[in-house]
Amino acid sequence: MYPQTHFAFGLLFIVILGIFTTLSPLALFIILASSILIDVDHWMIYVKEKKDLSIKKAYRWLVDAEKAKLSGMTGTRSVPNHNADKHKRQGRKFLCIFHTIEFFILMFIFSFFSQIIFYITVGCSFHFFLDLVYTYIYMGESRKPVSIIGSFLASK
Ligand SMILES: [Zn+2]
Repeated sequence: MYPQTHFAFGLLFIVILGIFTTLSPLALFIILASSILIDVDHWMIYVKEKKDLSIKKAYRWLVDAEKAKLSGMTGTRSVPNHNADKHKRQGRKFLCIFHTIEFFILMFIFSFFSQIIFYITVGCSFHFFLDLVYTYIYMGESRKPVSIIGSFLASK
């Protein structure tokens, strides 16, 4: 899902929170920011793969990768099986560290000790929920690996 889509839904989310809760503007801002910035792990993959820090190039690279992945997923008849395997392998190779169960468990635990981390966790959870819906709609059954341990074991 594109950052601008996350921004749009995130904005809607904090407007709703702003109406129905007593959260401060700062808390709402943290929730919105973290619901977008969690995707920084995609950029980190680009930096690692390409040895380049450009956000603009990373964005283009990731959009291309996403398109390639989607075309592999939707073409159930025309796309041969080895493509699906390739995408699965790439999924493991490109594990997004902030999109994992382990990250959320840690954030959940730290939320008890810090209000800021709690707001970040809310933002990240909302982002993750959108990602799951997006993955389900566009990729059907095949979800990206969301557990560091699980994807490590799967690659064995
Ligand atoms: Zn994401």
